[in-house]
Amino acid sequence: MPSALARPLARLIDELSKLPGVGPKTAQRLAYHILRTPMPDADALAAAIRSVKTDLRYCSVCFNIAEADPCVICSSDERDGGLVCVVEEPLDVLAIERTGQYKGRYHVLHGAISPVNGVRPDDLKIAQLGARRRDRGAHPRDESESGRRGDVDVRRAAVGRERCSGDASGARSSDGRGP
Ligand SMILES: [Zn+2]
Repeated sequence: MPSALARPLARLIDELSKLPGVGPKTAQRLAYHILRTPMPDADALAAAIRSVKTDLRYCSVCFNIAEADPCVICSSDERDGGLVCVVEEPLDVLAIERTGQYKGRYHVLHGAISPVNGVRPDDLKIAQLGARRRDRGAHPRDESESGRRGDVDVRRAAVGRERCSGDASGARSSDGRGP
């Protein structure tokens, strides 16, 4: 039976409905909105979607998403290189940066250890965090009790109990999501 929807419109609705939190009705509403949008705005939307796929990369130091490698935070002289806040996701960096209180750097694990969901330490950027700690050498902060705990400390960080200075209240808590 032929569909009442023109194929390009059906295709757009189908693609939009794949987005998180977008059900079929919302996808339809968005698709008709885009259909009525002036061409320059529709082009800008399409270009913005393409740009996040082609113009971004992972910072090779902190693994945050960035335009340049190293990212602006890792390459900034104004950041405390001896202080690293370990977070689960790039959005956590955004939340902490919004507070304007934290002046250290970050390490993004891209997830949390979760045996239930089959996420193992090797699936995350934990080894790279260990390498950063070693590269940094004997920093005074590493002489703390928590610093001497080494891998245990890293794993604790990996389940989202970030060790940040300053007010990180904007960060998403992941308590209870660990192993
Ligand atoms: Zn970075």
